[in-house]
Amino acid sequence: MPLVFSLCFGVRQPRCRPQNGFCKGLSDGERYLENILFVGLSESKAMTKVALLGCREYDASLIRDKILEGLSLIEADTGVFSGARVLVKPNLLSASLPEKAIVTHPEFFRAAIQAVKVLGGYPVLIESPAFQSLEKVMKKTRYKAVVEEEGCEIADTKDTEVLFHEAASRYRRFDLPKALFAADIVLNLPKFKTHGLTYITGAVKNLFGLIHGLKKSQWHVKARDKEAFSNLLLDLYEVITKGLQPPKRFLHVMDAVVAMEGDGPGSSGSPKEVGAMLVGEDAIALDSIMVTITGLDRDKALTLAPGEERGLGIASLERIDVRGLRLGDFFVDTFKPSLSNPVSRIDRWPMNTRFLRDLLIERPLPLEEKCTLCYQCKAICPAGAIERSDGRGNKPLYDYDGCVRCLCCMEICPEGAITVKKGRLQGLLDRWAT
Ligand code: SF4
Ligand code: SF4
Repeated sequence: MPLVFSLCFGVRQPRCRPQNGFCKGLSDGERYLENILFVGLSESKAMTKVALLGCREYDASLIRDKILEGLSLIEADTGVFSGARVLVKPNLLSASLPEKAIVTHPEFFRAAIQAVKVLGGYPVLIESPAFQSLEKVMKKTRYKAVVEEEGCEIADTKDTEVLFHEAASRYRRFDLPKALFAADIVLNLPKFKTHGLTYITGAVKNLFGLIHGLKKSQWHVKARDKEAFSNLLLDLYEVITKGLQPPKRFLHVMDAVVAMEGDGPGSSGSPKEVGAMLVGEDAIALDSIMVTITGLDRDKALTLAPGEERGLGIASLERIDVRGLRLGDFFVDTFKPSLSNPVSRIDRWPMNTRFLRDLLIERPLPLEEKCTLCYQCKAICPAGAIERSDGRGNKPLYDYDGCVRCLCCMEICPEGAITVKKGRLQGLLDRWAT
């Protein structure tokens, strides 16, 4: 049945959310969906397929079957799995309990491993946490048990090779694990979360985890602000999806059973149940669907429209053929974005002057009452802007002149002890704007 019929006759109307007795109006995502309902769609315009599936519990056999169902819905050629070496790439940001929703849930990962085996493939876990050892992260997140029970190989991400792709926009050369070059298929398993720097982290951002350990931090110095970093993510996506020879197949399966809102993507964010999982071959399309479902602001996710403009995927909803459930089935209360909304281009005049930075750009602020002086923030800081406490306070010392506002420290802090403090004028401007 053409998609236009399923939307016109079956979709639930976008909900109006009463708040304190008044209608709060529609979220950006709802307005966007409402617009395309009126415009109408036709299958001939759709250019990428995404399977949208309901899933409310982390039950591996249920999720495995849904992954297989999703692949069938998008008409993926599953024959390519037979005998293939399949890199399975979850989000293992840090050593944390799965219930905190910082990592792709271990049962979601188990389901992916099982699905690969059902299709005749050979699964290999690939991931390089930003700071801690993979061994430590796997223990805390319960991946170690899954890897042992399922008998899954683990790729070595330290052994790297340079991949160059001339057509990428700015960054064309990336040091990537040799395991990526030797694979046939990459099965990307992102966790959908809000993000202090890039606004969201989903399918596109998850592939940044292929870069080994602290080498990731160095990219934050090269691409300092939100806009530059989002472009870097698109460059990396382009280089690995188009530059590898022979080309690899990329499949993305999003864990949005429980996602994250607020000051993500680490301990400061809050788990939020969505009950969804997505399957597709276009990372930008998956992220676009999730931004819509969660009512976040599409314009602030700088990998969506720019990614489509660069021909790397489809972000426009009217060009995504959503199969399985309908978008309207998944409107949750609008996600709270991260408090941080970094100003773009902080490394250019006049935003690179200390005076304007302090007035207009938020900065990371460690909280004495939560800090345990573990100094993981100091270890990850790409700008060397964090020093040990001088003994006068129970928190590390920050050099805000050197800080590039990447928020890696906030992302990695295991205690959720770093918040963002708005610039003095920012608070005033925000009050004036509302
Ligand atoms: S702010 Fe967080 S990461 Fe930094 S020392 Fe304190 S607890 Fe550790
Ligand atoms: S202090 Fe935090 S936000 Fe600033 S550069 Fe270091 S890691 Fe990034």
